[in-house]
Amino acid sequence: MSLFGPNELIEDVINKNLCIGCGACIELCPYFRSYKGRTAMLFPCTKEEGRCYAFCPKIEVDLDRLSEFFFQAPYSGAPLGRYRSIHTAKAGPKADAGDFQAGGTVSALIGFALRKGYFDAAVLTDKEGILPVPRIITDPADVSRCSTSKYTSAPTLSALNQAVRQGYKHIGVVGTPCQVLAVAQMRMNPTAEPDFSDPIALTLGLFCTWSVYYRAFEPFIAARVDISRVIKVDIPPPPAEVMEIYTAEEKIEIGLDEIRELVPDTCSYCIDMTSEFADISVGVLEGRTDMNTLIVRTERGQKIVDEAVAEGFLVLEDMPGENLEHLQWAAGNKKKRAFAKAREEGMINGAEGTRSYLRVDPATVSDCIA
Ligand SMILES: Cc1cc2nc3c(=O)[nH]c(=O)nc-3n(C[C@H](O)[C@H](O)[C@H](O)COP(=O)(O)OP(=O)(O)OC[C@H]3O[C@@H](n4cnc5c(N)ncnc54)[C@H](O)[C@@H]3O)c2cc1C
Ligand code: SF4
Ligand code: SF4
Repeated sequence: MSLFGPNELIEDVINKNLCIGCGACIELCPYFRSYKGRTAMLFPCTKEEGRCYAFCPKIEVDLDRLSEFFFQAPYSGAPLGRYRSIHTAKAGPKADAGDFQAGGTVSALIGFALRKGYFDAAVLTDKEGILPVPRIITDPADVSRCSTSKYTSAPTLSALNQAVRQGYKHIGVVGTPCQVLAVAQMRMNPTAEPDFSDPIALTLGLFCTWSVYYRAFEPFIAARVDISRVIKVDIPPPPAEVMEIYTAEEKIEIGLDEIRELVPDTCSYCIDMTSEFADISVGVLEGRTDMNTLIVRTERGQKIVDEAVAEGFLVLEDMPGENLEHLQWAAGNKKKRAFAKAREEGMINGAEGTRSYLRVDPATVSDCIA
């Protein structure tokens, strides 16, 4: 992986509309800021190498190196990435109640880990109206206020950088696959900071096929309903093909075809549907609103899941074969499309000294596309 600085980040990512607004470059310095989904550099910075560039999940991502670091094996290209076990799951009887996106697996695990002292803070995504807002949560009772999915991309990792600066040492992070990728890069200490110690206790990755660009979403919703009256936005699991906007008085349904027009192009280059570099990944379970799909990838992920089950915070069941088959098909399809597009546009494995979106064994790319 080659290291560059903020000016190359602007040139390679922001000016090319590849920025997803994950927040990984925010709160590291006074220069980068995020406002309503847009990331911008306020003042010029002349550093030739920076954590902003090194953490960004949209440039110089070395998949084999990351995979060797976390799984002691090269990037496999398998649709769901490397994992130990896969289940269906929901919050157990001991977990706090809440208005969850699906089975409440994420909130249950985060609440459990905070209660047990495995985390001194959790980085979650709350909302103000329809705007996603990053939060540092230290009290388990506050976890469920951040529950449910906000379908716009969020600068969640700005709160992680803030939490690290504030001295938290065992942080749990919940994020989309692009955010999890950025966290994985942070954990490798790419700029060789001399006093670095990994502050991440656990990454809990969400599944994600796409998110919506907030700058496009806000006017789109405002044309249909008074935003100050919106209390909830939901996309029920397939086969429903709608986004539901709730106010106290009514529910408005919008076809997903219309919503997909608001997805930034950068999502079409994203090869990861299931947060392959997380300790634990969680998504919905097709056809069920009360359960999640849960993938355990690492030993520390396994430990927290096992303990949460033993102490009544989580309930696991076997994953039905047809659900697993469909999940693999969907994730494989996303990876294939994204690799094909990135390769066609010359964004993979550029020559030494040039900058590329991805670096990975070309044979893996060919296998995924075949
Ligand atoms: C943009 C987006 C797209 C998704 N697409 C899919 C998909 O295609 N297929 C699928 O199976 N699942 C998808 N999910 C995941 C799914 O919606 C649920 O988040 C997941 O199943 C966990 O459910 P839960 O009941 O355990 O969550 P809850 O217990 O309700 O917790 C939800 C957690 O999500 C976090 N969160 C919410 N919005 C965001 C955001 N914008 N960025 C980062 N973190 C956030 C919150 O911090 C909270 O901790 C998506 C989620 C998001 C945010
Ligand atoms: S780190 Fe995230 S917010 Fe910053 S430029 Fe990259 S994608 Fe955008
Ligand atoms: S599709 Fe990929 S880039 Fe887009 S929000 Fe989801 S994880 Fe991030």
